[in-house]
Amino acid sequence: MIVVMKTGADKDKIDAVIGKVTQLGYSPHPIYGEKRTVVAAVGDEREREKVMEVLANMPDVDHVVPIMKPYKLAGKEVKKDRSVILIDGGVEVGAEKLFIIAGPCSVEGEEQVVSTARAVKKAGAHALRGGAFKPRTSPYSFQGMEKEGLKLLATARQETGLPVVTEVMNPKDVDLVEAFADVMQVGARNIQNFSLLKLLGELKKPILLKRGMSTNIKEWLMSAEYILSQGNANVILCERGIRTFETKTRNTLDLSAVPVLREETHLPVVVDPSHATGYRHLVPPMAYAAVASGADGLMVEVHPKPDEAMSDGIQSLTFDDFASMMEKVKLFAKAADRSI
Ligand code: PEP
Ligand code: MN
Repeated sequence: MIVVMKTGADKDKIDAVIGKVTQLGYSPHPIYGEKRTVVAAVGDEREREKVMEVLANMPDVDHVVPIMKPYKLAGKEVKKDRSVILIDGGVEVGAEKLFIIAGPCSVEGEEQVVSTARAVKKAGAHALRGGAFKPRTSPYSFQGMEKEGLKLLATARQETGLPVVTEVMNPKDVDLVEAFADVMQVGARNIQNFSLLKLLGELKKPILLKRGMSTNIKEWLMSAEYILSQGNANVILCERGIRTFETKTRNTLDLSAVPVLREETHLPVVVDPSHATGYRHLVPPMAYAAVASGADGLMVEVHPKPDEAMSDGIQSLTFDDFASMMEKVKLFAKAADRSI
């Protein structure tokens, strides 16, 4: 439910509501607006009517309304303004500027990751991606450089100033990845790893939550809710294609998810045209389409020598490909009232 405070409600009255919500066994999520403060009370719905009445009668409470959507904190009932997520290094996600993440699928070595970081920064990227823990379909494929890979990402950040986005796969690695990453990625295969999501919810670090390959939008937002409900409000959604009967592309990029999400949630949405299509030449057109659809950013795989990449070379752009794509992304961004 949402406790809507009166305009200009006293801080101690707001605190009293927060205290009461906690005492009643719900978790309070206050949102301090310019005019009004609301306190979302999230928890067991069975006693809802009684609890709503208690809260409605507290001083400086204007009214109390139930939250209809199952994703209570991810939805727009509680928070109407779009969320802007702040990343270390002073980058904002979800504001007017697009957030462009680029880099290799996997971290493979210092020269590879540092040269890529330099090239993508020069072309206008705002963050470096690179997997140190890789979720591979085959246990015999390269599994990532793990801690060594994280250290190389930190080196690349030091060299370029780009914040680093990298995947955490296992709850046991959360502390380690948190120590190196500026944004922690949850991959498509972990979208419903609820123990991992709950642990990430206890942090303040921004989380890039990729859509599962067979996750519908409601399920995806419920996964975001796992993180938000633990107290971490810094969630960025990433559409990366879903599995359909189509075999000409690796996945089917569901771009209609972007405007749907803008209706359903205040959280920013970025699009990954690399995993969505699986082929290098399909990445730029779908990147442009993503920007046109209203995405808040892009995540693109780039490699110095895609043909020699240890993973996802076929869908990785060269430095030149990425630079020319970025020139055109700027034009689409302008048409969508955004900039880079
Ligand atoms: C990735 O971004 O490196 C990745 C593995 O993507 P996904 O989880 O979307 O398959
Ligand atoms: Mn990849």
